[in-house]
Amino acid sequence: KLENCRMRKGWGIEMTFNIVCMSGDGIGPEIIAEAKRVLNKVAEKYGHSITYKDILMGGASIDVYGEPLTDEAIEIAKTSDAVLLGSIGGNAAISPWYRISPELRPEAGLLKLRKSLNLFANLRPAYLYEELQEACPLRENVISDGFDMVIVRELTGGLYFGERSTNEMNGMITATDTLSYSEKEIRRIAVKGFETAMKRKKKVTSVDKVNVLDSSRLWRKVVEEVAMDYPEVTLEHMIVDNCAMQLIKNPKQFDVILTENMFGDILSDEASMITGSIGMLPSASLNDTKFGVYEPSGGSAPDIAGKGIANPIATILSAAMMLRYSLGLEKEAEAVEAAVKQILKEGYRTVDIMPQDKSRCSFFKQVGTKDMGRLITEYI
Ligand code: NAD
Repeated sequence: KLENCRMRKGWGIEMTFNIVCMSGDGIGPEIIAEAKRVLNKVAEKYGHSITYKDILMGGASIDVYGEPLTDEAIEIAKTSDAVLLGSIGGNAAISPWYRISPELRPEAGLLKLRKSLNLFANLRPAYLYEELQEACPLRENVISDGFDMVIVRELTGGLYFGERSTNEMNGMITATDTLSYSEKEIRRIAVKGFETAMKRKKKVTSVDKVNVLDSSRLWRKVVEEVAMDYPEVTLEHMIVDNCAMQLIKNPKQFDVILTENMFGDILSDEASMITGSIGMLPSASLNDTKFGVYEPSGGSAPDIAGKGIANPIATILSAAMMLRYSLGLEKEAEAVEAAVKQILKEGYRTVDIMPQDKSRCSFFKQVGTKDMGRLITEYI
């Protein structure tokens, strides 16, 4: 962004960025603090200036404003370069946030954020770190060569945004959800999928349920049209139930998985699980511009909130995605990713990624959230 640039004596171009931070609930504030620490180090080392604006989101916003995300918060987010989001929500069995109407609960804030900022593309990399192979629940012969994929999920259409109703007629309650996609919605996410593949191994697996759903038949037709513009990319189609199996049987076959909202929701959680820990996986939600919302794939983990043991790596890697996609700082993003790899290589682990095999524990050093953030920062 040229308007963000100014020459700085002895440093070349200094960039100034405005980041909105929505720490959210549970472990959110703990993991966002570590991502900020890393970003501050990047800014210091590479001569940039990052300013943060903290905004309440989820349960934290309900407590103050009675709603999970205010219109004012959205307006502030729109004027920023990117949003760094922690996680929202609490334990539904005991939290008062789940005793209010559904459109005012924490998760409604996420849907409002996605819709208001037109964040139609969710990118979730699922990569098996060599150092974390033993945390992967799959057999060694399946993962010996690792895997490295990105799930490109449509985020503002389909079943989660279609019309819904619950009606009672003649004493029988019926609930209805609607799954609808327009050509335009499919085309723009397909373009993101193919563009992502062009920067990787140039393979797209488009996932649908073409044998049953009309929306999937349109999905397949439009994806094939978009594929014509990307002759270098190999396109294959896969039915969603088969994809769920293939992720476990042979995850290495995937490069980019392109899919609609609900299938992507389920498959990306499955993909995150086979990497070893949900605490390792970043995500980016993008619109047509360079703007994006960056957040870890996991939730607010109320079971460990406040204990100082949450893994901050997913959030730190989300900040790296933010540097790459929204701020255009590729080498800075690579520096963060390299630091994470190095710290893992040196044996530092948060509890969720500590090896189960106690005989190997002498090499590994268990650290808490803050120490993990500090170690990564120091390496940068
Ligand atoms: P969760 O992802 O919060 O937790 C599942 C398990 O993973 C827990 O055992 C938790 O301790 C562990 N975990 C998650 N992140 C971790 C991390 N960084 N380090 C170490 N361990 C980690 O899922 P849940 O328990 O089903 O949901 C809790 C709340 O989070 C719910 O209110 C849910 O709606 C919300 N949620 C929010 C988001 C989001 O903010 N985008 C996403 C998913 C769930």
